[in-house]
Amino acid sequence: MNEATKTRINTVVVHAGAEPDAATGAVSPPIHTSTTFARRDDGSLPAQFVYARSDNPTRRSLEACIAALEGVPADNCMAFASGLAAAGAIFQSMRPGDHVLAPASAYYGTAKWLTELLGPWGLESSFVDMTDLDAVRQARRPNTRLFWLETPSNPTLDVTDIAGVVELAREIGAYVACDNTWATPLLQRPFELGCDFIIHSTTKYMGGHSDVTGGAILVSCAQRNVEPLSRLRAIQTVGGAVPSAFDCWLVMRGIRSLACRMRTHCDNAEKLAQFFATHEKVERVHYPGLHSDPGHTVAAKQMSRFGGVVSVQIKGGAPVAIAVANRVQLFIQATSLGGTESLIEHRASVEGPGSRTPPGLLRLSIGLEDCDDLIDDLSQALAGV
Ligand code: PLP
Repeated sequence: MNEATKTRINTVVVHAGAEPDAATGAVSPPIHTSTTFARRDDGSLPAQFVYARSDNPTRRSLEACIAALEGVPADNCMAFASGLAAAGAIFQSMRPGDHVLAPASAYYGTAKWLTELLGPWGLESSFVDMTDLDAVRQARRPNTRLFWLETPSNPTLDVTDIAGVVELAREIGAYVACDNTWATPLLQRPFELGCDFIIHSTTKYMGGHSDVTGGAILVSCAQRNVEPLSRLRAIQTVGGAVPSAFDCWLVMRGIRSLACRMRTHCDNAEKLAQFFATHEKVERVHYPGLHSDPGHTVAAKQMSRFGGVVSVQIKGGAPVAIAVANRVQLFIQATSLGGTESLIEHRASVEGPGSRTPPGLLRLSIGLEDCDDLIDDLSQALAGV
């Protein structure tokens, strides 16, 4: 297909990173499992691939595909074995003595990377309410080198004003990285708001079927030729937390239907958020698509829709919330999000000791089922407690 006809994102998700295979005409791309690549007698390589950890054709296709989704050149994307491997690579690209400012509501694994793994190695970190730009301004330190954003955040769907934080970071010459997992490139465009890095857990909406673990880092065009890109590429290829060829292929297959799936995730989540908003047993709904949500105004400015996750605080706290999760029949009680099936979890139990999540909070990943069936299931579960 002519490149000029691939410019709209609904088309990009279907075609990016793959042409019919030149050797066979296969429309679905081959999965290259070879770990090593033959040289010619003169030492040259037919396609510049040497060894699979460094680079391989299937991973390269996936990287080209995700890069196209975020609107950067193919080699500005690096695929990793998980979302946390991708996040960790960004943190490892900092230097001992640097400071990372992250949201207090960040995914708990991200916080663990910073505090438990890289704290002892000399990376400073602190956590702030990123929804409050004054608090972010105050929390900056002379050695702050990276602002980490996660918006909407996991699990309370806090919304950060991306452009506002970028402005604060620019004033002190720091980088901004945005975890765009929950929004996906379909709903939010962090590079267009000035971010330097984007990370994705491709385990979630990109993979989309709860059957593959993966992650990706993208580097903005502005950072393309400077130190972080080469350092991140080294962390990927020498650190070696890379996805298998099969996993790359699965993520790519998932991406082909991403636009279509996101529409239904958003439709269903919006209806369910409305359902919860008027339910007598619900204390609070966390969903930036609701006009009453504290993040709505900023979310409406920087997102085209509001995503497929809804969190609710149930009146009566943890015991009642757990009882609701135990009573659902269609929702599956399991962690994770972004798959075709609806999931529910009592988040504080999953996070364990030290969790900052409100004890009565249930996180729901809204799937692609008929929304009325989801509402019926939640209605009966709430009626029984
Ligand atoms: N970032 C966000 C926002 C997440 O929700 C998650 C997992 O839930 C991750 C990163 C980690 O991704 P992975 O499980 O692929 O390592």
